[in-house]
Amino acid sequence: MMRENVPLSTLTTFRIGGPARYVAQGNSVASVKAAFAHARECRLPLYPIGQGSNILASDASIAAVLLLMQNNSIAFSDTSEGVEVCADAGTSWDALVRACADKGLWGIENLAGIPGTVGAAPVQNIGAYGSELADSFSWLECYDPDTETIQRLTGAECAFGYRDSTFKQNPGRIIMRVALTVTRSGSPRTQYADLSRLIDAGEVLDTPHAIGEAVRRVRSAKFPDLTEYGTAGSFFKNPTIVLDQYTQLQQQYPELPGFATSTGIKIPLAWILDHVLDLRGFRMGHAYLFQNQPLVLVADAGATCVDVDALANNVAEKIFNATGIQIEREVRSLS
Ligand SMILES: Cc1cc2nc3c(=O)[nH]c(=O)nc-3n(C[C@H](O)[C@H](O)[C@H](O)COP(=O)(O)OP(=O)(O)OC[C@H]3O[C@@H](n4cnc5c(N)ncnc54)[C@H](O)[C@@H]3O)c2cc1C
Repeated sequence: MMRENVPLSTLTTFRIGGPARYVAQGNSVASVKAAFAHARECRLPLYPIGQGSNILASDASIAAVLLLMQNNSIAFSDTSEGVEVCADAGTSWDALVRACADKGLWGIENLAGIPGTVGAAPVQNIGAYGSELADSFSWLECYDPDTETIQRLTGAECAFGYRDSTFKQNPGRIIMRVALTVTRSGSPRTQYADLSRLIDAGEVLDTPHAIGEAVRRVRSAKFPDLTEYGTAGSFFKNPTIVLDQYTQLQQQYPELPGFATSTGIKIPLAWILDHVLDLRGFRMGHAYLFQNQPLVLVADAGATCVDVDALANNVAEKIFNATGIQIEREVRSLS
């Protein structure tokens, strides 16, 4: 079914965005092919979309065919390494986390409560609470419109990085289903401060179910409730800087946290927003930084993409002026 002139404000969690020319539903290879054929016929680009929880859409009309992935089955099978769970692109990510936890399967419990679909999860290699999709990833299948074939990619071929993958760098292919390896026996990954605090307070986090529920609880205190607020979660990526720059910044801000990674020192941007710039709750027009977590940008009802861009650009400029760090958006733009 092809819908016409559908406001992006109804398809994104920011609740912002003008009408998309066409919205097609993707629940099979045939329907994905048909959407591409329609886009070619109309000479429009095609853009896949899940739950719109990582998208900032422009206020103007969007001359594109949006492909809304809606296939949603989950299948488990035993393998020599554990259990392979294979889920369709349109499956809710958190439903998949719950399905694994219900069977006592370890691997993705720390990623509980992340909004969005399974198909979008590899695009930015979703991550939270010391875990990321790549840790349990097995393979995915995607439709390549150039060859009109289904390709199966390994983790290495997906080129996962920090909130990054080949799908972010080279958009165009449509992820159809994703397979992960989860295990019947595992150990809790509770080193992350928010979780270790719960353990110190006496909570027992010894099953995927208990950890998933704890993570959802911690997240609900940090992130705005999507039924009340317009947001796409963390708006910017945490920057990675070279050691020299980190050492210099530490002279000015001795408590600046930094975590060594293979590409440099990763800085928690929320710390800079909070301790260097005092921007918790900072508001410009109809958009502001969330009080509980300043990396999260929130839009009032009726806010526009222009409002969000103005705030985001202003924050990026303030960070650059204070620290020399150039930050990058995590949220994808759609225009
Ligand atoms: C409150 C809140 C908290 C969040 N917390 C986290 C967090 O802790 N960690 C984290 O990593 N992210 C987080 N996010 C961001 C978001 O949840 C993830 O990026 C999620 O994977 C997006 O899923 P989606 O289905 O909404 O994708 P969309 O926003 O619809 O799309 C995101 C991108 O993926 C592409 N895409 C979507 N489906 C497909 C497909 N089938 N094939 C190819 N490309 C596709 C789109 O074209 C777009 O570029 C948060 C967002 C919110 C609103």
